[in-house]
Amino acid sequence: MQKQTMKRGKRPELMWGLGLDDTLMQQIKEGVGPGFYIKNFPTGSFPWVKELEQDEQPSAAWITWSVWSDLPEYRKEEYRNQDSTQRILIQDDGDEPLEMDTVLSEGFLTVVRTPLTRPKVQDVMFRAKEVTSMYSDIYRMTEEILLERELLARKTDQLMFLNKILASATESLDASTILVNAKETLGLILPIKMLHAAFWSQQQDSEVADVDIFLNGKMTPETESAWVENLMTSAVGMGSGSVNGFQVLHTDPARRPEYTLTPKDGKLVTVPLTAGQTTFGCLALLCEPDYRLGKDQVETFRSAVNHLGLALRNALAFKEVKLRADRDGLTRIYNRHSFEERLVYEIKRRRRYNHDLSLLMVDLDHFKQINDTYGHKAGDLVLRKIGDILTQTFRGTDLAARYGGEEFVVLLPHTTEIAAWKLAERVREIIEACKFHFDGHDFSITASIGVASVEAGALTKDDDLILKADKALYKAKHNGRNTVVISGQENTTQTAVQ
Ligand code: GH3
Ligand code: MG
Ligand code: MG
Repeated sequence: MQKQTMKRGKRPELMWGLGLDDTLMQQIKEGVGPGFYIKNFPTGSFPWVKELEQDEQPSAAWITWSVWSDLPEYRKEEYRNQDSTQRILIQDDGDEPLEMDTVLSEGFLTVVRTPLTRPKVQDVMFRAKEVTSMYSDIYRMTEEILLERELLARKTDQLMFLNKILASATESLDASTILVNAKETLGLILPIKMLHAAFWSQQQDSEVADVDIFLNGKMTPETESAWVENLMTSAVGMGSGSVNGFQVLHTDPARRPEYTLTPKDGKLVTVPLTAGQTTFGCLALLCEPDYRLGKDQVETFRSAVNHLGLALRNALAFKEVKLRADRDGLTRIYNRHSFEERLVYEIKRRRRYNHDLSLLMVDLDHFKQINDTYGHKAGDLVLRKIGDILTQTFRGTDLAARYGGEEFVVLLPHTTEIAAWKLAERVREIIEACKFHFDGHDFSITASIGVASVEAGALTKDDDLILKADKALYKAKHNGRNTVVISGQENTTQTAVQ
């Protein structure tokens, strides 16, 4: 349907006459005036509408009832389907008037009776124009509605996608899991082969950054170093500052064939991750080489990355907070709070499974003198070193913690008193053998250790173990320091076993 209007000074509008005689032609021409041009087809050579598709469509077609009645049904149907043309039926004045229902159901706009006087013709043309312009309005509105519907459908898809991203990103507080999920969800709009990430954070009071690199799966050393180099370059390029060091973590430990892919094996898209004004990381997406994103998809992708950025930021902050809450700031080993939590847990487990549980309480000897002689920083150095020694000496199931000041504890599940005593002896020797250098001075330190145990089957109160170890430690100090004392034997002097 097209809007047909009578425009002065324009090319005259086309109308058809279908089998009109000269009188009717003359009357119509006079009636419509110079804005129209009427082309009459003699009966038997009427035009086929389907052949006219490229040509100008007539705004109106005039046909007499007698000619129309003689047309075969398939031809009538063809004219009826010609949307942009208003069909006007002419009835002989002598004929019995047609019911309006018949006129309309035959697909006509209206009927006029002969003679076609000027007012009659003008009235019909006016109505034709009205109907055409109404149709054209309806057509335009329908088009608008369809367009709106299409936009709405696209927006719905976009929202559903973002919802999916958000749901999978907030499902976990673990950066690795979020990245594995992101590969899957972003994969819905981008053909992603691999997804890696780098996050950087400045150390306290320092310009240098530590970088955590998350690689999508384990890979050969050469491939891994190609990715590490790529991500470190991106990090520096995006403002990480100079880098102190990095650690590599693997998000998807399964080794798969595609994990030999280097940054050159596809189209590499690197996007920054920002929170507020700061860029704290980036994603490196290795994609199939030939993909194109529509404008909408680019926008969706940007929002998805923003969502992901926030979720990852939360996960990293959570990890940091948890680390700070569990660990001692100076030595980075567990703090007293973690130890106490674990002690309660181990005592419960011991009651249930009836195994041995031992505790070492380690106190550095004359530590105050180190501070007094070499300064507080030298003391800190010693404490950090003792932390390292304790973490390296014990198993993963044991828990070494800083209890306070220069006092440390080690909780040893499944360990008998005698085994704990041997371990304590070993630690005491390692500490004694350790040489410290600070500010041009060499020095060493010793430790006194109290050992306490709960034997299998013995029932004790939760804090008994600490009290017993503390008593043993006191005895060790009393006995001259640099020594290990087992609880319950405080009265027998325990000297270091050579
Ligand atoms: P003893 O052999 O009887 O245990 O003597 P000590 O000097 O080790 O014991 P004391 O309890 O008199 O002194 C402990 C010192 O540890 C005092 C305190 O200033 C120091 N200290 C506690 N925490 C820290 C710390 O975080 N850093 C440093 N440098 N010193 C600390
Ligand atoms: Mg002390
Ligand atoms: Mg001490």
